[in-house]
Amino acid sequence: MKTVIFRSFLVAIASSLGSIFIALAAVSALGGSLDGIAWILCIVCPLLIAWPASAYTLWQSDRLKSAHRDLSRAHAQLAAAHRRLADKARHDEMTGMLNRESFFTALDRSQRKTDRGALLIIDADHFKSVNDRFGHLVGDEALLLIVAALRGGIRSGDVLGRIGGEEFGAFLIGASETEAARIAERMRQEVELIRFRPDGERTIPLTVSIGGTICGEGATVSELMRRADRRLYSAKNRGRNLVVFDRDMPEAA
Ligand code: GH3
Ligand code: MG
Ligand code: MG
Repeated sequence: MKTVIFRSFLVAIASSLGSIFIALAAVSALGGSLDGIAWILCIVCPLLIAWPASAYTLWQSDRLKSAHRDLSRAHAQLAAAHRRLADKARHDEMTGMLNRESFFTALDRSQRKTDRGALLIIDADHFKSVNDRFGHLVGDEALLLIVAALRGGIRSGDVLGRIGGEEFGAFLIGASETEAARIAERMRQEVELIRFRPDGERTIPLTVSIGGTICGEGATVSELMRRADRRLYSAKNRGRNLVVFDRDMPEAA
């Protein structure tokens, strides 16, 4: 407020000086001179009018600037909240992995960029029995151990998501079949190595079965899913705790 009064005072002084200058110029052009009343009018009128008028204008302008700053701050906070919310919506709350929808979106995007890569579908074996024997909360603990093991086995930069209750998807970007089968095997082993002792005594085995397929040129996400699913089904049929890839299938499709 102090600066508004000071700045408007300067404006009023300037307008007084301006009005004296114009009056002197006009009067000298007409060959006359300013009398005492004219001098007072030239000084007082601009002060009386310009001071409050400019004070009001400057005050409004300061308020507008401050409101603009508040608005910009609120806008930045809103954008950050929106980013956080969008990020939360893309991830599965329990595991922090990409959720089903985001996984398929990421898979589709990666596949558009490069045809090369492999899709794995990973399913926890006999997981219902873990819940049945120890309850759902202990089942959740087991699931988180499996998730950590899968993360330990996959390469950084690959795409990992939770596509169902105890089912996960992995897209191994640019991997050849041999490379992908090796990574899938490493993930399987990482899970097998978990020492899960829910009652502090017995170790309950945790295993996963993995179906994998190489991404052929132009294959759609649903085709890849169907192929990987068929290999997962085969891994389950062959006794579980197993990786089945294209080369392990009797037919190449
Ligand atoms: P399979 O080897 O054939 O896959 O047997 P499974 O028992 O794993 O398969 P099934 O489809 O019969 O059962 C899946 C179980 O996974 C049942 C479901 O309650 C459990 N499950 C899925 N999501 C969660 C979860 O978030 N937490 C817990 N605790 N259990 C879950
Ligand atoms: Mg299962
Ligand atoms: Mg399942």
